[in-house]
Amino acid sequence: MTLTAGVIAVQGDVSEHATAIETAAARHDTAVEVVTIRDAGLVLDCDLLLIPGGESTTISTLLASEGIDDEIRTHVERDKPVLATCAGLIVLARDAQDGRVDTLGLLDVTVDRNAFGRQADSFQTPLDVAGLDTPFPAVFIRAPAIETVGERATVLAEWNDRIVAARDGPIVATAFHPELTEDARIHELTFFHEG
Ligand code: GLN
Repeated sequence: MTLTAGVIAVQGDVSEHATAIETAAARHDTAVEVVTIRDAGLVLDCDLLLIPGGESTTISTLLASEGIDDEIRTHVERDKPVLATCAGLIVLARDAQDGRVDTLGLLDVTVDRNAFGRQADSFQTPLDVAGLDTPFPAVFIRAPAIETVGERATVLAEWNDRIVAARDGPIVATAFHPELTEDARIHELTFFHEG
């Protein structure tokens, strides 16, 4: 069986995520076909979904105007996995505490959009992530932080007393960019492991 992996291609590291999904799938002897998504009508045929970083204001606006937002809701209702990174995390959150971002409310967290961007624009650090045996090389770029985690969500990683990764049902969300390293373990954790 070949899995179809959709990468929302409004903005962000689309090809890097495609490579990471292919690497993760190969490690689980699974074939994967990557589809880039800019229009409505494709998400519902995807088994896996990826929402990259970029600018959350732009991404949320385009998802709504194209009608992709409701398809993402349906994908999650069907309990199919989603990896949301950086701006993707912000877009899926319950509340981004910023009226310019109309969040989808699928991930039961509130976020501070530019929590790390205010301190240092970008940095890389080894990060302990629940479910991984050794630290993950996490790249943060104008990164958000999760401020509060609701009842449905669980914390997967913290850095400097801030929550930087969480899971809510089929959604894994990271404040950092797992696609910017060779290490595909976050993609594996999201798409090829239970729980
Ligand atoms: N902080 C940015 C935002 O609000 C996200 C940055 C990123 O995705 N690298 O959209």
